[in-house]
Amino acid sequence: MTITFTQEELDLLCLYVERALEDWSELRNHYPRDHVNPTVDEQTDLIFDILCKLQGKDSLGSPAEEMGGKLKQLQKDIHEYAVEKGFWPEERTIFECLALIHSEVSEALEDYRDDRMEQTFTESGKPEGFPSEMADIVIRVMDLCEHLGIDLEDAIHTKMEYNMKRPYRHGRVR
Ligand SMILES: [Mg+2]
Repeated sequence: MTITFTQEELDLLCLYVERALEDWSELRNHYPRDHVNPTVDEQTDLIFDILCKLQGKDSLGSPAEEMGGKLKQLQKDIHEYAVEKGFWPEERTIFECLALIHSEVSEALEDYRDDRMEQTFTESGKPEGFPSEMADIVIRVMDLCEHLGIDLEDAIHTKMEYNMKRPYRHGRVR
C-alpha cells in the first residue's frame, strides 16, 4: 500500500513523530542508565525508524551526513598537506599528536580568557583568535585520524545517530 502525502502533511507528520520520539526517549530517564527496558527501547527504535522512512532516509541526518563526503576529502587533504610539509617524520608518536591537540585546546582557552573571540589577522596575514584555534583543533584531529585510517565522518555519523536516541541530557541529572 502506498500513501501519498502533500509536503505540508508530511512536515506535520514528521513533527508529531519527532515529538513521540522525544517522549519515548524521555521515558528512558525514568530507569537507571544501564537498565534495559525492552518496551521503551523497542518503541524508541521503532519510532526512530518511522521518522527515517518519513524523511526518506536510511538514517536520520546528522551533521556528518549532511556534509556528503566533504569531511572525508578534507581529512585526506589535511593529512596530505601535513605529510608534504614534513610534519610526519618517522618518529612522530600518537602521544605527541594527542599532546598537540591538547596544546591547541589550551591556546583556545587563552584566547577565550583574553576575550579574543573574533578572527583577526597579523600584519603578515596569519589568522589568529578563538576561531583559528578551533580550526587548529579540528585540523590536528583530522590529520591524526587520516594517519590512523579512521573515517572521522563515519565515526561522527555513528555517534550522532546513537546520541539522537538518548534521553534529554543523556539521562544525567547534571
Ligand atoms: Mg594554534
